[in-house]
Amino acid sequence: MKIIRTISEMQECSRQARLAGKRIGVVPTMGYLHEGHLSLIDRALEKAEFVVVTIFVNPTQFGPFEDLDKYPRDFERDCQLCEKRGAQVIFAPESKDMYHPGHSTWVIEEALTGDLCGRSRPIHFRGVTTVVAKLFNAVLPDVAVFGQKDAQQALVIRRMVRDLNFPIEIIVAPLIREADGLALSSRNRYLSTDDRHRALTISRTLLNLTLDNLDADAIWNSITEAGGRVDYVEIRDAETLGEVTRNTAEILVAIAAYFGSTRLIDNVLIRKK
Ligand code: AMP
Repeated sequence: MKIIRTISEMQECSRQARLAGKRIGVVPTMGYLHEGHLSLIDRALEKAEFVVVTIFVNPTQFGPFEDLDKYPRDFERDCQLCEKRGAQVIFAPESKDMYHPGHSTWVIEEALTGDLCGRSRPIHFRGVTTVVAKLFNAVLPDVAVFGQKDAQQALVIRRMVRDLNFPIEIIVAPLIREADGLALSSRNRYLSTDDRHRALTISRTLLNLTLDNLDADAIWNSITEAGGRVDYVEIRDAETLGEVTRNTAEILVAIAAYFGSTRLIDNVLIRKK
């Protein structure tokens, strides 16, 4: 497995792979990899012979009081995990190469980003769309795999790819959980044992939902009673993020809540018809 640090080398490597007749897959991540990330590599390898995992803790998607500086990192371990899983390349650019001084161009999606996570993290999605567009231009992939864990992000990326005509197939892979239900996240390591235990309320509540017991207030209360601080509980059309209507085929129930100072997100999809 190759480790690439510069954009020009990454582009050249992808051109060579394409010349050799390979399809190129990309799995964008911020590192500190877990089984959720690794499952995305599996999906990418089903679609592409040449899979690039990007590892970049993107400063522009963190707000001023968020956890950019303490975001967990373990590059050596990430490399071992990617190699074992069958990735061909890790692309880990440096921040100064991704964002030149005076960087002033942004990709902004306007319909899907004002709500849910965008409400409490106002600059987050601008950072995500911009960095993903930049990573696409560096890796030049045919296919990109994202996780359903970040349901809103996946919809935003799909919309960006459609609206800006990126010639890239977007795959959204299922959310992977711990054996006890907790959604895998690099941020779970911030949780104390006690908070982790209490945070299980999120997945327990979500995994018990059916069409007949969808009640945002009840979900909110169960998280609060467990000692969590709810950021949002939303019941939306999974395709549009709008209100659930007669035409809704699938419902997204999405939660963001703090346990201790750790903000966790989780969601489930419920088929309506
Ligand atoms: P991150 O490193 O948190 O930016 O995540 C990188 C990618 O991994 C995103 O597409 C996430 O949605 C995905 N991901 C993170 N956690 C999980 C999980 N538990 N299951 C599936 N995909 C995940």
